[in-house]
Amino acid sequence: MNNNSLSREVLILNQNYEPLSVTHVKKAFIISYLGKAQIIEIYKGLHLNTIDKSFPVPSVVRLKNYVRISRRTISPTRKNILKRDAYRCQYCGTKIGPMTIDHIIPKTMNGKDTWENLTCACVHCNTKKGNRTPKESGAKLIRAPRKPHFFYLIHNIVNVPHPTWRPYLFLDPL
Ligand SMILES: [Zn+2]
Repeated sequence: MNNNSLSREVLILNQNYEPLSVTHVKKAFIISYLGKAQIIEIYKGLHLNTIDKSFPVPSVVRLKNYVRISRRTISPTRKNILKRDAYRCQYCGTKIGPMTIDHIIPKTMNGKDTWENLTCACVHCNTKKGNRTPKESGAKLIRAPRKPHFFYLIHNIVNVPHPTWRPYLFLDPL
């Protein structure tokens, strides 16, 4: 097994199959070996070889004991807003040009720094909208901005989840 395989990402599920975090093969293999986790899915065709044994390489493991987690909160920072909106202007849909953060309800009208009130906007749309509400300016949002789901964190860590992860992340089938 080469270093490349050892550094592959492994999805860790809670005892109830809820996604918990992402780790690397090495750690996932150790906790499985110690009996703390069960291998649910493997990287087909990959093996961890010792002198006399060959082990499958886990891609998804499930913890045997339920871990109580406090919901991690994600702050609506500039970077996170841009990521949530995929660097797409939420008014005209363009992905071209520098992006700005628009307060949907302007700060001057008591608009807050919240997930629901911040959106990615291109310079053109932001300037055009100015210090007005969408209603006043006629600017329409492509979709209502929302606070990302907890699973957003996992999607954020890996750009393209391995196909064996998909049923656990509740993604559409391939
Ligand atoms: Zn725009």
